[in-house]
Amino acid sequence: MTEADAVTAFDQHEHDHRKCVVDALSVAESMCEREGARLTPLRRRVLELIWSRRKPVGAYELLDELSRERGRVAPPTVYRAIEFLLDQGLIHRIESLNAFVGCSEPRRPHAGYFLICRGCGATAELKDRRIDGAIRAGAQRLGFRLEGQTVELRGLCPACADEGGARVAH
Ligand SMILES: [Zn+2]
Ligand SMILES: [Zn+2]
Ligand SMILES: [Zn+2]
Repeated sequence: MTEADAVTAFDQHEHDHRKCVVDALSVAESMCEREGARLTPLRRRVLELIWSRRKPVGAYELLDELSRERGRVAPPTVYRAIEFLLDQGLIHRIESLNAFVGCSEPRRPHAGYFLICRGCGATAELKDRRIDGAIRAGAQRLGFRLEGQTVELRGLCPACADEGGARVAH
């Protein structure tokens, strides 16, 4: 592994995203089995819905989708499923969008550095141990006890940058 690389990348070349979803679900299944965590059908479906979108998904969008599929689903049911997935490290919360994205490396608890496109909402996750180290050292210097390490960076994805940032959400 190099010091800096992407956990997830912007979708520059059309690829079969269904494969990403299938892979993410099988990683989640084996991880939960190993940890003795219960990936119920609902939790699994929420994870699948989050992965199926190529950009961060809000709780209400999930609630709408699940209610369409299963009849009325109560908001706390969805929130509990989201909390479970967050606890397991299977998804990340993007605070600035109040939305969630799947993590393709849930096995390793890690800090999340997100590049968020202001044009289309696409999000990519970076991983860089040098940033981890710099943040930890800085916090320590100031006597700050770090609890969370999520950094959200704003800009334009390659596709939107090509179009001069004029592209609207698809
Ligand atoms: Zn994909
Ligand atoms: Zn992650
Ligand atoms: Zn974009």
